Amino acid sequence: LATQEERRRGATKRRSSPERAPRLAEYQRRRDFGKTSEPAGAASPRRARKRAGRSALEFVVQKHAASSLHFDFRLELDGVMKSWAVPKGPSTDPAVRRLAMETEDHPLEYNAFEGIIPEGEYGGGTVMIWDRGRYHADEASPGDDERVLRRDYARGKLSFTLEGERLRGSWSLIRTRGAGRKPSWLLLKHRDRYARAGADIVGAHDTSVVSGRTLEQIATGRSRVWRSKRVGAARGTSADRGIRPMLAASAQRLPASGEWRFEPSPGGTRVLAYVTPDAVRLSASSGRDYVTRHPEIARELARLAGRGRRSVVLDGEIVAPRGEDATLHVSDLLLEDDDALVELPYVERRARLAKLYARRRQQRVRLVPSHEDAAAAARAAKRSGWKGIVAKRSDSPYRAGSRGRAWLRLPLPR
Ligand code: MN
Repeated sequence: LATQEERRRGATKRRSSPERAPRLAEYQRRRDFGKTSEPAGAASPRRARKRAGRSALEFVVQKHAASSLHFDFRLELDGVMKSWAVPKGPSTDPAVRRLAMETEDHPLEYNAFEGIIPEGEYGGGTVMIWDRGRYHADEASPGDDERVLRRDYARGKLSFTLEGERLRGSWSLIRTRGAGRKPSWLLLKHRDRYARAGADIVGAHDTSVVSGRTLEQIATGRSRVWRSKRVGAARGTSADRGIRPMLAASAQRLPASGEWRFEPSPGGTRVLAYVTPDAVRLSASSGRDYVTRHPEIARELARLAGRGRRSVVLDGEIVAPRGEDATLHVSDLLLEDDDALVELPYVERRARLAKLYARRRQQRVRLVPSHEDAAAAARAAKRSGWKGIVAKRSDSPYRAGSRGRAWLRLPLPR
């Protein structure tokens, strides 16, 4: 029997095979990426291969309030997400068979998409990441998943095991009609220890596994941010007010559950730094731009963004101790070139931020460390003479302008 580890090792080898020409033509033809914030998909097989370091095949289930509410069930295969629209959503009751209409392949990046597709665009409406995780073929030996899945997909009968947050155990997709443009399939749960007769898993969970939001919260809260995705907004041409910073709620003690990271809190002037090939802005919530006051910070930001080759939007705080050089302490990355990162989990945004920093040594634009351990963050704060720490949920998206419980401001322990 294949262990997880064997599977993983096999997966890595398998994924570096060159056979992943993007088959996203239909996906791309249906969408105007100037209007929708959905990912355009890897431009080249090289970009798809860059993701080859991941350890297993991914699946995602998105709840999609379009003209009619449905669930999009997607399985990674050969560098794309094979996709089915499941009107009633998956059922964990093995007696229930759910219709699954095959739709066009989606890019892998779609797995991280949660937000609003503008009205009038293809699939216009709200998208929630209802579940996601890894999966493997039931009858594959380690490292052989994609070969088996490719064969079974062609035959019209897939059998696979999901390791999601809500969906687990073995499932089947069986093609019932047509191998033509829009074949229909049935999605069903096999009998195993994850099967639940009579259960309504779709009714039991109405929030995102990534952001914890309901469809309504996604629909009402985020449109501003998603429109800000276009670099135009970062340039300040179309949306001069830009993105509002996410705020932390005050708390007196460490969160008791959930996965968190901890940052020392500079306690300076909160700014969003908009760095584009044309200009740098350091926008405070008051609307004031601090660039003229701190030209050295602006210069370092331009250098950080590669001297006019890139665009980034950073969240940070300016600390200007009397008699010392002012410093921008950066804690978040909201946009990098054309990628809006606000819907990504905090830890993924921080990973991108660290990568950005890895390229340059900075004096006046520093990275706020992110610790797994609250005590380590508190020590770092103390060393810098700062007054507190901020706890941030590892999986939290950047909720512009909102003060929720995903970020908690804590005083230093005495
Ligand atoms: Mn859909």
